[in-house]
Amino acid sequence: MSQPASNSSAASSASTVEDFKANLASIRERIAAAELAAGRATGSVRLLPVTKTVPEDRLRLAIEAGVEWLGENKVQEAARKAENLADISGLKYSVIGHLQTNKAKDVARFAHEFQALDNLRQATALQRRLELEDRSLDVFVQVNTSGEETKFGLEPTAVSTFLKSLPGLDRLRVKGLMTLAIFSTDHQAVRTCFTMLRELRDQVRQDAPEGIGLDELSMGMSGDFELAIAEGSTVVRVGQGIFGARALPDSHYWPGFAG
Ligand SMILES: *Cc1c(COP(=O)(O)O)cnc(C)c1O
Repeated sequence: MSQPASNSSAASSASTVEDFKANLASIRERIAAAELAAGRATGSVRLLPVTKTVPEDRLRLAIEAGVEWLGENKVQEAARKAENLADISGLKYSVIGHLQTNKAKDVARFAHEFQALDNLRQATALQRRLELEDRSLDVFVQVNTSGEETKFGLEPTAVSTFLKSLPGLDRLRVKGLMTLAIFSTDHQAVRTCFTMLRELRDQVRQDAPEGIGLDELSMGMSGDFELAIAEGSTVVRVGQGIFGARALPDSHYWPGFAG
């Protein structure tokens, strides 16, 4: 399977604050255009810059250019950055990759958001650690909409039952659903994943427990965020479109992905 448009949609490598400002402005313009085209309100989509593999010295430039949210795939890398950038106030970390239960304590300590919740053991471990830290965490439930076995996330049919197991975990503020579309250059196949997440949300909302928020849909990355916005995305996770192509292959971040 080939890489989606993500590499061709990578920004050229930014190395100054001005470069980052220009890259951010261009992504924000494209988000606004996609909102308009979909008949959606301006500002209804949040840009989550994905900062994985970007070292702290370059991040400082991006932060100066306006980046406040840092989307990180790996807990260890995120924890290191939270420590090394602790002198900057107001930064918010969103962990968007698979979490092993034994790393829940790290996420509970520094993260503001966790987008890859997909099992009850993990949810329980997070609740316990958040109680110890006296913190709460915004969470998204990850759904596997592509049917690929290597992908993390709940099967769509399991989401409704899973949501019903969460209300007792009061440190987790459920905001919505998250997905990674299929890796394909076939736009229709990619779009089908986004449609599925939106329709699933509409369906599970009907009998979701009180307090479980389902307004948010985190879907869309550098190569496909316009399609995702057309399908109702409220959070787009954009890395290479801001920071340039990554040196490490995505298989390093997405186990099983051979791209
Ligand atoms: C890396 C990553 C992204 C961003 O991908 P880009 O192609 O850099 O925009 C989005 N979501 C997740 C879960 C990721 O790991």
